[in-house]
Amino acid sequence: MKRLFFIFLMFPLMLSSKVVGDTRLVIITIDGLRWQEVFMGIDESLMANTKEVRDVDQLRRMYWRHTPVDRRKSLMPFVWNTIATQGTLIGNRTLGSVMQVANKTNISFPGYSEMMTGFVDDAITSNDPVANPHRNVLEAANEDLRYKGNVVMYGSWKSTRYAIHNEEAHIPASVSYEKNIAKSQTSVLEMVDKMLAGMPRYWRSEHFDAFTYAYALETIKADHPKVIWISFGDCDEWAHARKYDLYLDAANATDTFIQDIYETCEADKFYKGKTTYLITCDHGRGDGAEWGSHGSSIKGSEATWLMLLGKGIEPKGETLNNGPFLTKQVAATIAHILDIEFTPDDGAPLQPIGM
Ligand SMILES: [Zn+2]
Repeated sequence: MKRLFFIFLMFPLMLSSKVVGDTRLVIITIDGLRWQEVFMGIDESLMANTKEVRDVDQLRRMYWRHTPVDRRKSLMPFVWNTIATQGTLIGNRTLGSVMQVANKTNISFPGYSEMMTGFVDDAITSNDPVANPHRNVLEAANEDLRYKGNVVMYGSWKSTRYAIHNEEAHIPASVSYEKNIAKSQTSVLEMVDKMLAGMPRYWRSEHFDAFTYAYALETIKADHPKVIWISFGDCDEWAHARKYDLYLDAANATDTFIQDIYETCEADKFYKGKTTYLITCDHGRGDGAEWGSHGSSIKGSEATWLMLLGKGIEPKGETLNNGPFLTKQVAATIAHILDIEFTPDDGAPLQPIGM
């Protein structure tokens, strides 16, 4: 009798936690944006390099201020006015908060792979656009009844989709000059499709982030996906090209995109108060003259960072003396936020970050 009572008591609880799950998640990745600019703003020594900056005076007016706190705020105002006061930030190494990739390559695809699959496969060492053989956390979300058919991805760079693409996973994704994948077509989406098709392909396997932003924002408005991964890439491209001014402009624009996505969601009753925002990067970059590069031989390019905002996130602001957290823990963090079952292919226990 006692046991029967227990079963009756537990069943509705289990059912409700599985079926009524009400979380929405917006994942935003910014490829190769250094923790140095995120947490300290423009770098004075790089700013003065006239080979890598077209108009030093203009750049100074836009982003230079007398303290690192004011500099970072002028570069990424939404991060420092809103996320820093209402969310949690990890990765300011000057405060002893450390996050880094677990893979040894410090390049993009292995970074996205560990972020989404929750572990490091040492055989994944290139950026080639080939299917990831491992199970990923967004695939697990898409198999859960609460999120099924409500998981989508938009990315600027071609290879990003393969972090979540294997023979089993069928998550709708649009990357690198592909058309939108919204279920509800709108005049805005049709126009963005035409504009992207008409853009000169400055980078061969990556379109400008403004298109990724426009697709994601309009898909959020039209389709209300419960889980969306928005993957930006301009910062990494301009850094490789050693255009420090354009790299900073891209960081600044990305901040505006994030603000617009956040404000659009929070003004919509489908998302308002029910949405967690997770923002991170795939790798860091070198210091000083090596700022443009990253990879196994570039010191410091293992450094990453993470911001969390919204539902379930405490307003801790910048955190101190913690870590090292690992980018592969992002998968566990996503599973925790969505309250889904997920086991990485290496079978290791999940360790969510910052919860
Ligand atoms: Zn890169």
